[in-house]
Amino acid sequence: MPQTDVPPVTDSDARGFVVAIDGPSGSGKSSVSKAVARRLGFRFLDTGAMYRALTWWCRHLGVDLADEDAVTAAARRFPLEIGTDPDRPDVHVDGIDVTASIREPVISQQVSAVAAVLPVRTILGELQRRIIAASAATGVVAEGRDITTVVAPDARVRILLTASPEARLARRSTELHGTADAASVAATRAQVLDRDRVDSAVASFTVAADGVTTVDTSHLDFDGSVAAVLQVVEAARG
Ligand code: C5P
Repeated sequence: MPQTDVPPVTDSDARGFVVAIDGPSGSGKSSVSKAVARRLGFRFLDTGAMYRALTWWCRHLGVDLADEDAVTAAARRFPLEIGTDPDRPDVHVDGIDVTASIREPVISQQVSAVAAVLPVRTILGELQRRIIAASAATGVVAEGRDITTVVAPDARVRILLTASPEARLARRSTELHGTADAASVAATRAQVLDRDRVDSAVASFTVAADGVTTVDTSHLDFDGSVAAVLQVVEAARG
C-alpha cells in the first residue's frame, strides 16, 4: 500500500464539498484551482504532482520507465506525502522534498509514460480518492486530467477548464521562457500539445463529460479565470 499521512475514509467525509477541475496543459488549472481553494478556505490537491512525484521516485530508484511491471511495483511502495494546504502544497517522497524537482523539464518529458501505465492510474486514483475524502469535510479543490470523470465523478462541482491551443501555448511559453515570441512558442509546443496528445490516450480532458461545466479561459486573465470558476462553485452552493 502507498504510505501517506491520510486517515481512512468515513461516511461523513464522503459527504463533503468537492470541486473537481480537469483541463489540458497550459489551461491554468493548477494556479486557478489553488487560488479558488484559497478564496474558499478549501484544501487543494494537485494530482499531476502525484504522477510527477512517482516519475521522480522511479528515476531515483533507477527503474526503467518502459518496464510497466517495475513502474507498477514502484507505485505500490510509493512513500508519498503531499500537502493539501493551498499555501504550501509541498511534496515529499521518502522524506525528500521534491516540490521543486518534480517541475524540472526531464520530469515533464517522462511523466506521461508513467501516467499511461493503467495499474499506476488505479493505485494513484485510489490514493487521490482517499485524500479527497479526508479533506472533503473542509471542502477541497482537486485538479488533474480525470478527476471529473474517474476519480471524483460524484463531486458537487465538476469543471473542465479549457483554453485555445494558441492561448495555452502563449501562457506556457511566457512561464518557461519569459516571452511568447514565435521561437519560444515553437520550443514550448512539444511540452504542451504533444504531452496532451499522449495523455489523451488514457484520460478524457478535451471535451466536457455529461454534467461537467466548461470554463473557457482563452480570453480571460488570471483573476477573470478565478472569478469564472468561483461563479460556478457559488451557483452550486446557492
Ligand atoms: O498537471 P501536470 O502537468 O502537472 O500533470 C503532469 C502529468 O501527470 C500529465 O501530463 C499527465 O500525464 C499526468 N496526469 C494524469 N492524470 C491526472 C493528472 C495528471 O495522467 N489526473
